[in-house]
Amino acid sequence: MTMIDPYIFRCPICGEEFEDYVLASSNQSGASDLDTRPPEMIRSTMNIWIHECSQCGYAARDFDEKPQVNRDFIESDIYQNIGFEFKSDLAKSFYREYLILKEEGCTDVLFHPLLNCAWACDDFDDTDNAVEIRKMCAEIIGEDTETLSLIRLDLLRRSRQFDRVIEEYSSKTFSEEILNKICTFSIIKAKSADDACYTVEDAMQY
Ligand SMILES: [Zn+2]
Repeated sequence: MTMIDPYIFRCPICGEEFEDYVLASSNQSGASDLDTRPPEMIRSTMNIWIHECSQCGYAARDFDEKPQVNRDFIESDIYQNIGFEFKSDLAKSFYREYLILKEEGCTDVLFHPLLNCAWACDDFDDTDNAVEIRKMCAEIIGEDTETLSLIRLDLLRRSRQFDRVIEEYSSKTFSEEILNKICTFSIIKAKSADDACYTVEDAMQY
């Protein structure tokens, strides 16, 4: 089961103190989604993965870490207005984390808040934004590892770029049978223009 604890956060940008919750413990059982989104109960704890200062809007997972961006960036139009009308504050917070990491030049991990942002959009039936965020994420995630390549595959399929799935993945092979099964399953789904969410187990049982 999931346990959460209240925690006093102090904003490293503006000094505001506010109470939010942190995860004390949780569990997961079952299969992850094809894009690595974990099963319950971890799945439903996203609202405490990230925190946002109610005063200035600074968003981060760890408020004790010194930010590399300054107050000018947090107050800037690009950060405050973000350019998306998300249906949830949670998606907005993840997107703001993405903007901060981008400003900091953290290109290796930049895909991560976008992936989380897409999951938050999914949970709030924010379908159009989920597609747009997945498109952005697919362009920056790269294929440095097989896991990243398969997340990218799922991002392409779920953002309805079915032709790219078929063109870019039909001749790819992976080092493990389970990964090849996920790839084949995704291509079959892309060929029938299926952009639904599937788990690793769905791919295994196909
Ligand atoms: Zn603040």
